[in-house]
Amino acid sequence: MNFDRINEKLSILADAAKYDVSCSSSGSKRQNTKNGLGNGHYSGICHSFTEDGRCVSLLKILLTNHCIYDCAFCVSRKSNDIKRAAFTVQEVVDLTINFYKRNYIEGLFLSSGIFKNADFTMERLLLIAKKLRLEENYNGYIHLKTIPGASPELLREAGLYADRMSINLEMPTEKGLKLVAPEKSHDDVKKPLGFINQQMTEFNTERKLIKSTPIFVPAGQSTQMVIGATPENDMEIMHTANQYYNDYNLKRVYYSGFIPINHNDTMLPSIGTQPPLLRENRLYQTDWLMRFYQFNVNEILNVNNPHLDTDIDPKLSYALRNLHLYPIDINKADYHLILRIPGIGVGSAKKIMQARKFGNIYAYQLKKFGIAYNRARYFMKCADDNYHIKDYLPSQIKNKILSTSKSKYLKNIPNQLNLFD
Ligand code: SF4
Repeated sequence: MNFDRINEKLSILADAAKYDVSCSSSGSKRQNTKNGLGNGHYSGICHSFTEDGRCVSLLKILLTNHCIYDCAFCVSRKSNDIKRAAFTVQEVVDLTINFYKRNYIEGLFLSSGIFKNADFTMERLLLIAKKLRLEENYNGYIHLKTIPGASPELLREAGLYADRMSINLEMPTEKGLKLVAPEKSHDDVKKPLGFINQQMTEFNTERKLIKSTPIFVPAGQSTQMVIGATPENDMEIMHTANQYYNDYNLKRVYYSGFIPINHNDTMLPSIGTQPPLLRENRLYQTDWLMRFYQFNVNEILNVNNPHLDTDIDPKLSYALRNLHLYPIDINKADYHLILRIPGIGVGSAKKIMQARKFGNIYAYQLKKFGIAYNRARYFMKCADDNYHIKDYLPSQIKNKILSTSKSKYLKNIPNQLNLFD
């Protein structure tokens, strides 16, 4: 084995893979210090979550950065003059096994540019997963990219060896996609998503009758949208996410702030060098509200309110736009209403429901449950505290909250946005 060439390929293909966030990348670039231990890096090893919630480190690479397409936003597009490389099937298998045995990784995230055609590429991804499972008896995590346009037979087989599969929508709408990747279409993504979802259902049904039926894509499917490369507003983005969650039973939608790599491309907007991280965070918060807080996307984003606020999170924004629904009585309201109080997360809402069984809840107890009391108090009443919210304008409450929460809302934006309250 030519180690120098393998190293070179690794550096090219791990670097090219860093733009795909559909596996939850750590995304840090901290350097090691003298006498320190380890360092953070944008590419190479990232973290993901298994079906049972464990966080695993993954070798994140492309099989190749050769590609027959020319998507304007992509570093690997065919018109870019960059170093190209491609692993062989055996090289990826060997790297995975060697890193795994050294305890560097617990899994593999394998994506690829499209060389020759969709089936040619998908066949190789499948072969890698198959060799790992059948020849190396590898039981670690495998996340495989679904290549748009690949034949159903290949996808069906891949789903038997991969834990998770994902396929990127790229842009939130078909119209947006056509602006930056005219050769591509959302239908190319919908078809495989639909096929894999249908297979998951069929395998699950069959397993109820025949216990030995294998689990098909046990960690489900995910997708990614690039944010800020095309003109979609937040409402369009989150309505697309909601539709894909519903239609294809996705585990996750990832939102990746557009990183302007291909400067001077007239198809792309000029946004300087910084990706829109704050917007990305707000979209994740909205996604969280939809999936875990029982919010309907229309309640947060609609034609009257198509953009997320930048200075406050979407849950607080919703509460301020709907003050007539507050205060919510901590001691009487249903669980899903308690979740709508800004400053109360899923964990503390559960504690409140539990504690209520033993009597009325007072403010000092709420503080012990870990809620953000200085925010929550405007929107709730408990046994000994009832803020007269109706006496104030939304803007007055917002200012009060922002002035008492400076550390979170002003100082640390965008570094430390709370996804959980
Ligand atoms: S098909 Fe994928 S890898 Fe190829 S240019 Fe488009 S986004 Fe990049």
